[in-house]
Amino acid sequence: MSDTTTVLHCPKCNEVGHVDRFKDLNIFVRMECPKCNFRWKTLSKRCKKCFKPNGFAVEGYCSSCYSEMYR
Ligand SMILES: [Zn+2]
Ligand SMILES: [Zn+2]
Repeated sequence: MSDTTTVLHCPKCNEVGHVDRFKDLNIFVRMECPKCNFRWKTLSKRCKKCFKPNGFAVEGYCSSCYSEMYR
């Protein structure tokens, strides 16, 4: 397994994981499996607007661009 793709599914049981926690503008997000509690690290997607890591494992805007659009 490489660190160059975003891994949404648990490497152990293939359940869809959720983001455990993230740091602002960190290229890596921590994922956690709701089924077996396995944790793994994956690449964050990039914001479509500013192209910085958005802090999420799914496509979308980063939190600063998001709050700019919806304030
Ligand atoms: Zn799992
Ligand atoms: Zn952004």
